[in-house]
Amino acid sequence: MQSRDLRCFTRDEIKEIVVSMEQPKYRGDQIFEWLFKGAENIDDMKTIPKDLKEALKNQGYYISYLKTVKRAESAIDGTVKFLFELKDKLRIESVVLPDKERTTLCISSQVGCACACAFCATGALGFKRDLTTGEIVNQFIWAQKETGIKIDNVVFMGMGEPMLNWENVKKAIFILNDEKGFHFAQLRVTVSTIGIIPAMKEMADKDYRFGLAVSIISAVDEVRSRIVPMNKAYPLAEIVKMAKYYTTKTERTIMFEYPIFAGINDSIKDADAFYKLMRGIDYKVNLIPYNSVTGKDFTKPEIDKVKAFQKHLMDKGVKIFIRKEKGADIAGACGQLAGEVEAKG
Ligand code: SF4
Repeated sequence: MQSRDLRCFTRDEIKEIVVSMEQPKYRGDQIFEWLFKGAENIDDMKTIPKDLKEALKNQGYYISYLKTVKRAESAIDGTVKFLFELKDKLRIESVVLPDKERTTLCISSQVGCACACAFCATGALGFKRDLTTGEIVNQFIWAQKETGIKIDNVVFMGMGEPMLNWENVKKAIFILNDEKGFHFAQLRVTVSTIGIIPAMKEMADKDYRFGLAVSIISAVDEVRSRIVPMNKAYPLAEIVKMAKYYTTKTERTIMFEYPIFAGINDSIKDADAFYKLMRGIDYKVNLIPYNSVTGKDFTKPEIDKVKAFQKHLMDKGVKIFIRKEKGADIAGACGQLAGEVEAKG
């Protein structure tokens, strides 16, 4: 059965609901607006007539919320990491990353993840369920409410593979983008994937305005297959073909993420393999030095090696950045906070 959480619906869908209750369409606009100006339950919607509010409640409609279980704030850089509890008591992470000019929110799309990438703390938790559209939208609302900081960018790089919960992720982006809601620009949203080809193709064909980032991990197929089980379903060669298709069709740049691990993918030979593989694509690279996770056989590379990798590609004209480590003092890697709390019971 479809959720009756009002935060799961677009404005048009809410209008259809009110029309089905023999109320004028504009009441749908008003309800939608209330969802983004602080209504926490149906009775908070002051301009909505009592009979409509009662009809909504009688039909099981409600407004969902997140419960903050843990909030960790970095003394180093102001990063705020939240552990939120959902209606069924499952927990997810969201991270607010303030920078000099802008603040980015890292959002989760699933509880846990089925992809089981060997280096990932979230993958180690296993897959519990997809988040609803409302639970995704709520992370944006709660992050702003709890920190008082205006979010400028959103990245789907939290727990889960967003393209395996694609319908809810897209719908949440469209709802946040609605002019009667937060009017949050699609251009300021990036969906980060391990390389789910059908959804990447849809992004190219539909020409959505939000950005695409793909985690490459290694340009050597055999190494990637060892670390990323999903590489069997969607191999590197297919991802590269799709990245070419996407950049040609949309005339947009694609972001390749390259988590870099000591002794696995950090050599100059690895950089050369990457360069060769990506020839002909309009791309940028985000080099992400790995944050060690307890129980994982992956370690952080030496910074000199990371810089040498970067320089080697820069010298060939590649736009490549090293991601600054954020929140190092508050369980940095995604899934770690949820894992820690789960372990402690
Ligand atoms: S890296 Fe991403 S896709 Fe892989 S297990 Fe972790 S959350 Fe899932």
